[in-house]
Amino acid sequence: MNTQDTQRLQEFLDKNPIITIIPHTNPDGDAIGSSLGLYLFLKAQNHNVKVITPTDFPDFLKWMPAADNILIYPNHEKEAQERIESSTLIFTLDFNNLLRAKPLTPFLEKATAPFVMIDHHQQPDTYATITYSNDKASSTCELVYHTIVSLASEQVIDEAIATCLYTGIMTDTGGFRYSLTSPTTHRIVATLLEKGANCTRISSEVLDSYSLDRLQLLGNVLRGLVYLPEYKTAYMSISSKELKQFNFRKGDTEGFVNYGLRIKEAELAAIFIENEEENVIKISFRSKTNLDVNALARTYFNGGGHINAAGGGTHTSLKDTIALFLKVLPEFLSSPNAYYKEL
Ligand code: 5GP
Ligand code: MN
Repeated sequence: MNTQDTQRLQEFLDKNPIITIIPHTNPDGDAIGSSLGLYLFLKAQNHNVKVITPTDFPDFLKWMPAADNILIYPNHEKEAQERIESSTLIFTLDFNNLLRAKPLTPFLEKATAPFVMIDHHQQPDTYATITYSNDKASSTCELVYHTIVSLASEQVIDEAIATCLYTGIMTDTGGFRYSLTSPTTHRIVATLLEKGANCTRISSEVLDSYSLDRLQLLGNVLRGLVYLPEYKTAYMSISSKELKQFNFRKGDTEGFVNYGLRIKEAELAAIFIENEEENVIKISFRSKTNLDVNALARTYFNGGGHINAAGGGTHTSLKDTIALFLKVLPEFLSSPNAYYKEL
């Protein structure tokens, strides 16, 4: 965060605001980690602060420090709405467009508080009074680390904050593998380890915590994977019937899409997941090198994200969504937008 924005943020904080922190809908490790890391920092400074998630989050993140203090909107609708209404400072973390906070979007649009956006996705919207957006950062947790150091110092980072920030960096870098994993990322991670983050425990809680049903759902999905050598593309799909068969719980399909890229030649992986209740097909894309799945998701699937990890959705059937994907794929791959230039 630059000096001017740090000063402006400090001025807001000096007024003892009622602070609410909002991560994106279906929050992942980075969304929850950054929200809780910032929450714990502000709490330690005696601020009145609350995290509200637009939807519930997976069990493999529920062990995190202060996770019990999160207000999950669908479980506490009225309280969450009132809190947003009475807030005098709102942080939005790990997203840059209020539509990504569904079903909280209308309440956020009505809110009178100034917004502070901390995010690392491309093409940020302009709703925030302070926008700290850097699409070269590995994770929002990395940006929250810088925010805390700018506002206070490294010394205020305790074991709990370090654990939260480490979790988000680990998950958003795919275990320090993805292209935005930088020397700075590793330096921050080294500091977080020094502050007490336990890398073995964290990876075990997040990654080695499958239920048998979840592992078998993965087996089933992988058996149905389709690989298209001419497009170097792997795709998978999961129907709501399969989700029921394997007793789906929130977060169970997290990370499945990445398996498509395990094929040596594959450059693009997609997964299509039917959500019968919400009447949507949720799509995740992943890519290697500079193949820009953010462009793919934005252009054809109402979505967005990063160059190598993006998502979107449709309101048609699973079959029609896959048919649309297969139709637009050759067109997209031969378009000038397909490959990001600067990487
Ligand atoms: P995932 O595939 O894991 O849900 O998301 C991959 C990345 O794309 C994340 O950074 C996420 O924030 C972003 N993303 C996922 N779905 C959507 C969507 O529907 N719209 C937008 N704008 N971004 C999305
Ligand atoms: Mn993120």
